[in-house]
Amino acid sequence: MGGVRERERANLREVYRPCLGSAGPRMVASKDLGTAKVIAEVARIEEYRGCWATRWDLYWAFPAFPEKVVMAKLSKLIRAGKINGCVCGCRGSFTIAS
Ligand SMILES: [Zn+2]
Repeated sequence: MGGVRERERANLREVYRPCLGSAGPRMVASKDLGTAKVIAEVARIEEYRGCWATRWDLYWAFPAFPEKVVMAKLSKLIRAGKINGCVCGCRGSFTIAS
């Protein structure tokens, strides 16, 4: 029942959690998730499927990051006008802004 996936996520989270910033170890934050990588992934899914990427597609694509962090990154990209979509908790329908 999603056990393997959850365990894999938890393991990756433990590996990636300590990010060494100038102030020492800290939790991962949305700025650790590369803008170019996220945009490329939205574009890849959009191209592959012929329509939007969902938030679950993006959680799957970046398993080292907690869902909240992925959502925060998507929210920033929407505000920056780089992607279209919604972070209210619905599927998201993320597309590249053109
Ligand atoms: Zn929504």
